[in-house]
Amino acid sequence: MEDRAFDVVVVGGGNAALCAALAATEKGARVTLLERAPEEKRGGNSRFTGGGFRMVHHGVQDIKHVVPDLSDADIARTDFGEYTAENYLDDLGRITQYYIDPDLAETLVRNSTDTVHWLMGRGVKFLPNYGRQAYNHEGRFKFFGGVVIYANGGGSGLVESEYKAAAKHGVMVRYGARATAILRGKGGVEGLRVLVDGAEEDIRARAVVLACGGFESNREWRARYLGPGWDMAKVRGTRYNTGDGIRMALDIGAQSYGQWSGAHAVAWERYANDYGDVDGQHSAGYRHSYPFGLMVNANGERFVDEGEDFRNYTYAKYGRAVLQQPGGYAWQVFDSQVLYLLRDEYKMRGATKVRADTLEELVDKMQDVNPAGFLKTIRDYNATVKRDVRFDPNIKDGKATVGLALDKSNWANTLEKPPFEAYSVGCGITFTFGGLKIDTAGHVLDIEDAAIPGLYAAGELVGGLFYFNYPGSAGLMAGAVFGRIAGREAGGVAQRR
Ligand SMILES: Cc1cc2nc3c(=O)[nH]c(=O)nc-3n(C[C@H](O)[C@H](O)[C@H](O)COP(=O)(O)OP(=O)(O)OC[C@H]3O[C@@H](n4cnc5c(N)ncnc54)[C@H](O)[C@@H]3O)c2cc1C
Repeated sequence: MEDRAFDVVVVGGGNAALCAALAATEKGARVTLLERAPEEKRGGNSRFTGGGFRMVHHGVQDIKHVVPDLSDADIARTDFGEYTAENYLDDLGRITQYYIDPDLAETLVRNSTDTVHWLMGRGVKFLPNYGRQAYNHEGRFKFFGGVVIYANGGGSGLVESEYKAAAKHGVMVRYGARATAILRGKGGVEGLRVLVDGAEEDIRARAVVLACGGFESNREWRARYLGPGWDMAKVRGTRYNTGDGIRMALDIGAQSYGQWSGAHAVAWERYANDYGDVDGQHSAGYRHSYPFGLMVNANGERFVDEGEDFRNYTYAKYGRAVLQQPGGYAWQVFDSQVLYLLRDEYKMRGATKVRADTLEELVDKMQDVNPAGFLKTIRDYNATVKRDVRFDPNIKDGKATVGLALDKSNWANTLEKPPFEAYSVGCGITFTFGGLKIDTAGHVLDIEDAAIPGLYAAGELVGGLFYFNYPGSAGLMAGAVFGRIAGREAGGVAQRR
């Protein structure tokens, strides 16, 4: 067994890990980062993302600080709104049914804007997310749902910039290096056992930061903790997040925390591959335009309020709703009035799509849907739409149905103008909510809420932030905020231990 020594070892190769590694170097620590994936697949789920960041801002002046080359023309045609700390905290509370750990919520929110600036200082460039977070409606854009910015180049642009910064700051990165156990001595954590090319080695370190993702890619744990049927979900992102960091920490007495039966899961291309592929068209599976159409199950019946809220506040819980339908699938249906609003992924190769000029023909092509049930659903829906309310995709327009057992609350256009299109979806899991308990300095806590000396955590493997649902683009922000905090603390402590 080979033995090497560092001040800080960071486990994981995504956004949280890279932020931790960078912050630790700022404390003068010698840092190594272990990425289980080979170099060409590095970057975890972070690399698969659209790069959206949910931060506090107070309107165009704050956005201009983050996007310095925002043009006057863009400013003139855009309402950026504002997203205050109170809005953010309210959203986190409401979305998680007020189960969110209040200290973690406060830490995330209060550090969000400053952490975006910190990332900019490390080479990450941000842009306004036109088209995804604001639609061009009658010549104007209005940002909705709390998110304005995304990292240039999306998730891959983000992690590329972060790896570049890590190299510049002297972080030693090892690929194909899977951490398997935490080495613990009398005074706390002393390092890690790692598997590299089939051989075990021990790496000595004064502090360890776990940032190696949740357990969404562990089929067995999904069935065990999320429940029956979850083994059948498609993994939207990396195959390497199998819960190793959580298991290693629990093995040395860490406390499990958060909603272990909960996960971020979306309506996703039904016949997508089992895992995402960073080299392929990994974004092709997105089916996020359902607020403008209807979703029906095998019986032809609706099962969610597609217009309950902006997509950012519903998409992460609707994957579970799809999984719970007979056969675990559904169809999203649109008519020609809204086809222009469908995200680009609906037009990509690999979409399970049918198109027809009548609803009868359409449902005939949707083979596995009960035609009578479907036609009745559409008839009842069309009959209850408030026709006198104007449709506006940028606001919760109140164009609703009235009197259905399950009403559609916004964006309820009638479904009557051909051609019609329908897209088949299954459940795509993004990440799991359960994990480890940390304090606001990133220490991993044991079952008595005491910090395990030398052990820190950040990112998806932290429990207590998300329950039942998730507000879009809070994941990267949380990974960056808590990664930076954990790295800073680990770097400082490593110098003293
Ligand atoms: C398709 C998709 C789109 C998304 N879009 C957005 C978005 O726009 N905005 C947003 O905020 N969030 C988005 N998310 C969620 C976001 O990806 C996560 O919240 C965030 O990336 C988590 O970062 P992380 O660093 O904790 O985990 P990851 O980025 O997944 O990194 C985990 C890392 O740990 C490594 N690893 C695992 N086990 C080990 C081990 N034993 N030893 C060493 N390394 C190990 C993995 O290889 C990986 O590099 C999206 C997710 C997906 C899948």
